[in-house]
Amino acid sequence: MNNMLKYLIDLQEIDRQLFEINEKKGSLPEQVEKLESQAASVKSELENKRTDLEKDQKELVTVKGGLMDAEVKVKKYQDQLYLVNTNREYDALTNEIEAVKAEAAQMEERQLILETDIETLEETIATSENQSAAFISELDANREELKEKSDLTDTRQAQLEKDRIELVKNVSERYLRKYNRILKARRRAVVPIERSACTGCHKQLNPQTIYEIQQMNAFIECENCGRILVVLPGDKD
Ligand SMILES: [Zn+2]
Repeated sequence: MNNMLKYLIDLQEIDRQLFEINEKKGSLPEQVEKLESQAASVKSELENKRTDLEKDQKELVTVKGGLMDAEVKVKKYQDQLYLVNTNREYDALTNEIEAVKAEAAQMEERQLILETDIETLEETIATSENQSAAFISELDANREELKEKSDLTDTRQAQLEKDRIELVKNVSERYLRKYNRILKARRRAVVPIERSACTGCHKQLNPQTIYEIQQMNAFIECENCGRILVVLPGDKD
């Protein structure tokens, strides 16, 4: 067998596998990225709710403090009412008391809203903590699986590329150029014959061409598609 043909058959097998890997690999990194961003958004949503809860709890402390202050103030002004001598002073104090009470009423309203919000947030956080823990661990498992697959593929690809570099050293520049040109245009450059036909384009071949291909001594190209025709080792036509 023409050695150059043998190298090209091996080269074609490597390129076939590399092509398959590239097709399979295509969406893997995207899938991993998608899972990661989903996990991140679940985490950040929960984080936001926790921040809201903290903010509400802090404000509630301030509001409660304000209400206690207001109560003390009102009591103090009411005590002072007994000590005033003029109507003007009396009116001024009464106005003060009304103002503080109005402020306190607003604070009480706010306290009610905050307490309701806090209750809702605590419930939501508890539920989504459970859900997101399950979701995140599922995402992690999926992501790990994908990464493993992707790593394996990377290793295989690197090995094939290394093999290809070694193999190509044996192929003359002229044939390599021809091979690469057909590969680029036809995806497969070297194809076996089957039932007297080119398996690249299914063109029937005449007996003389088949005989020449079977000798495996020369490069026979398909008249129709230009692919290099071979008989694979162990194959009979
Ligand atoms: Zn053909």
